[in-house]
Amino acid sequence: MNDDDRLRRFLFEDAPVRGHWVRLSKTWEEAREHLTLPGPVMSLLGESLAAAGLFAASLKFTGTITLQLTGGTGRVNMLVAQATDAGSLRGFAQVDAASTATGVRFQDLTGGGRLVVSVEQGDGVEPWQGVVPLVGNALSASLESYFAVSEQLPTAIVLAADAGRAAGLMLQKLPAPGSLGESEAAGVQDVWEEATALLATLQPEELLAWNADELLRKLFGSRDLRLFDGESVHFACRCSRERVSAMLQGIGKAEIDSILEEQGAVTVTCEFCQKPYRFDAVDAAQLFIAGTATAPLQLN
Ligand SMILES: [Zn+2]
Repeated sequence: MNDDDRLRRFLFEDAPVRGHWVRLSKTWEEAREHLTLPGPVMSLLGESLAAAGLFAASLKFTGTITLQLTGGTGRVNMLVAQATDAGSLRGFAQVDAASTATGVRFQDLTGGGRLVVSVEQGDGVEPWQGVVPLVGNALSASLESYFAVSEQLPTAIVLAADAGRAAGLMLQKLPAPGSLGESEAAGVQDVWEEATALLATLQPEELLAWNADELLRKLFGSRDLRLFDGESVHFACRCSRERVSAMLQGIGKAEIDSILEEQGAVTVTCEFCQKPYRFDAVDAAQLFIAGTATAPLQLN
């Protein structure tokens, strides 16, 4: 079976350790096709999309999870990767035109800053958000710190992306049952330490190339694992003319009129898929006919 564009879950049969694996091919191709970014920034976006898929699989929610890298002084001004519980993914990155950084390391790209993880569940459920500083030499280190701090779950993550694929693998040590004796707990800790040490040996090209069953076999050898079929993932954007209309209504008539005066039309381009939404003077006037205004919504 080809595992492209799939998220798969696995369990260690003899220890409270679970994992999630994802590999994006067509999803990654479609997510990046409208974006023009320097190679290292594109790779970071690919890794972030794979990570968003792993987060969505691992955290229980219905709605949208967003990973946002922001607030640093590196080459990346802002990077957003989003996944829904229905398996759709999208993302974009903005390069800071004023930045003089040229390096390709994680710190050069992000220049510190922070990782914001937010979940919107809709239907009156309060959105929640967690923030951790961007640390270490790779995105995976910041994500591991997010799970340690916000979810109190020891987590090990590896991520990779190239022009054709983006992939990720995440291991998590689950809370052991309270009845576990001292020697059993030590045994679980040994399994965890061995598994994370093995994961650290995985090369990016191996993570990108191997199917899930092949990877687990090569990495963990004869250890007893259960790999589930998993779910497919795909690229999808949720922008729409209705959402753009609501956003323009939120901006207000005076501002829209001044744009119309200068440019003849208002064009809003979706950051995720680059689809342009154009409103000429007649379209714009219709936005502000009494009674049609609704509460401001975000474009996306
Ligand atoms: Zn869009």
